Amino acid sequence: MKIICIGRNYVAHAQELGNETPDEPVIFMKPDSAIFRQRDAFYIPNWTSDVHYEAEIVVKIDRLGKNIEKRFAHKYFTDFTLGIDFTARDVQKKLKEKGLPWEKAKAFDQSAVLGDFLSINDYDLTQLNFELKKNGTIVQQGNTQLMLFDIPQIIAHCSQYFTLKIGDLLFTGTPAGVGPVQMGDELEGYIEGKKVLHLKIK
Ligand code: ZN
Repeated sequence: MKIICIGRNYVAHAQELGNETPDEPVIFMKPDSAIFRQRDAFYIPNWTSDVHYEAEIVVKIDRLGKNIEKRFAHKYFTDFTLGIDFTARDVQKKLKEKGLPWEKAKAFDQSAVLGDFLSINDYDLTQLNFELKKNGTIVQQGNTQLMLFDIPQIIAHCSQYFTLKIGDLLFTGTPAGVGPVQMGDELEGYIEGKKVLHLKIK
């Protein structure tokens, strides 16, 4: 399986990092080895001193598809959750300055955290509230209405380039409020007030 991630999908986040608003989805990927498997503790890698959380709605593809039309995109997933796209911002900044690919900063082991999955039948994904708390304080608050490219548009766009397979994950971008984590921090993620994610930073 693969993990497809969308960058700069919320205007306020693109602006906080000094990026332009894109006119088509910005795409990068993480390998399956990036999936967080440590249960509840994230260990900051020793090669970075500036790991940022990015809370994002994640959908799990459950049907094979290529060149999917936007109007049929909803048929390609039933489960979604809140995830964290951990990003080594210091490494990313250096790579971006040189115009180099971001993989080291984005695709490293344990960098793709997934919360408990929920069913799309119980929620309206076009106007979904989600938030991330750090040490009990809300640091990111998003609503999928504010996405530049909504989930059907993302699926249609990505599937022109990459065949979507069962089990693939789509990280749909983060709202404003990204920031660093330090040893001892605790992160909690909520979708419509329901807690789906909890981890400690070590
Ligand atoms: Zn992200």
